Amino acid sequence: MTHSVSEVTPRPSTASLYEAHVLGNYARAPITLVRGQGCRAWDDEGRRYLDFSSGVAVSSLGHCHPHWVAAVRAQAGELVHTSNLYRNPNQGELARRLVGYAGPGRVFFCNSGAEADEMMIKLSRLHGVAKSGGEEGRCFKVITARNGFHGRMFGGMSATAQEKVQKGFRPLVPGFVTAELNDLDSFAALMDEGTSAVLVESIQGESGIRPCTTEFLQGLRRLCDERGVLLMVDEVQCGLGRTGAFYAFEAAGIRPDAIAMAKGLGGGFPIGAVWIAEKFADLFTPGTHGSTFGGTPLACAAALAVLDVIEREGLLEKVSVQGREWLADLEKLVGEFPAQLSAVRGRGYLVGLELTSDPAPYVEALRERGLLVVPAGGNVIRVLPPLIATREELAESVGLLRAVFASRA
Ligand SMILES: *Cc1c(COP(=O)(O)O)cnc(C)c1O
Repeated sequence: MTHSVSEVTPRPSTASLYEAHVLGNYARAPITLVRGQGCRAWDDEGRRYLDFSSGVAVSSLGHCHPHWVAAVRAQAGELVHTSNLYRNPNQGELARRLVGYAGPGRVFFCNSGAEADEMMIKLSRLHGVAKSGGEEGRCFKVITARNGFHGRMFGGMSATAQEKVQKGFRPLVPGFVTAELNDLDSFAALMDEGTSAVLVESIQGESGIRPCTTEFLQGLRRLCDERGVLLMVDEVQCGLGRTGAFYAFEAAGIRPDAIAMAKGLGGGFPIGAVWIAEKFADLFTPGTHGSTFGGTPLACAAALAVLDVIEREGLLEKVSVQGREWLADLEKLVGEFPAQLSAVRGRGYLVGLELTSDPAPYVEALRERGLLVVPAGGNVIRVLPPLIATREELAESVGLLRAVFASRA
């Protein structure tokens, strides 16, 4: 009889495996999660958490939603991967559904937010070349907003005007310049013949839930139209229903020229996408971009299941209405604990609590009381419930937050 190594050797603790073998690029919380159901997750010591981290805005349907599980299981037994050398039915259908939300255009599939952002940056280069009558290197400036976040790859990192993201990795990709969020004049001042695109998050996530105002997004749309500059919106974190609208920019009544999506799209299965307006979609021709894994039958089945549930369960409406009530309750905490909590910002289930000090001890205290949340820049705690979170679960989070603020008052 043969035994596999794992049968004869007991596996070391997860903590020691991480300590010995996993790259140290994260400051991880000292818990090991092993199971999830809905808004709940459990660790390996049997402790239960209200998971309002949603894996950083990814688990839009919570953990193991039955419709999502059934769709992924069925697809895993049918066809998982084919590459983009061939069509697959799910990719076509998912593109159709996304175009239904975004407007006339075409969709490219990849595997993450960073990849979606890289693809949009390549779009800006192709647009710049087209604007320059086919000549490269004349029109490639992209104007971004201070404290924006566009992923960790070279293009997106270069577009991310944050020292903590760029430090140690220079030289960066050239062409990115930084203007001030919600200051249209600062964008206009940087715009010239060499400008191909503007790239902004509709609501800045990583830097602490900072929304573009309606006037600002409308102003950018006007400015970009006047100057023949692409308006590219990064909806990787704020899109896919998180704010109660399918895309966060909808609140401003505008339509961008390109939209990057990822995080919540697959409900936990890795998938990213870029929608490009019809007018610019032809800039990509065979061979100009690609992805081996992008848009597999399995990834697209997961994303289709997410869209099914959002639509069937009326989640946009629920997130919008319940999010407003929840925000009002959270705002009361500012009045109760002004020495610790200076502001609450957000829309729908994308909320930031701005503290008067480092959020790390609060994130830890909340975890110990059973609430998982995500730190962000600028002393902000992000609270990102799954889109399926109920009024009761939202109220429970307010109670846990109140208890932690009270214990530290
Ligand atoms: C998370 C995030 C990214 C990067 O996504 P990854 O999937 O981690 O590569 C890009 N842009 C925004 C706005 C994000 O929040």
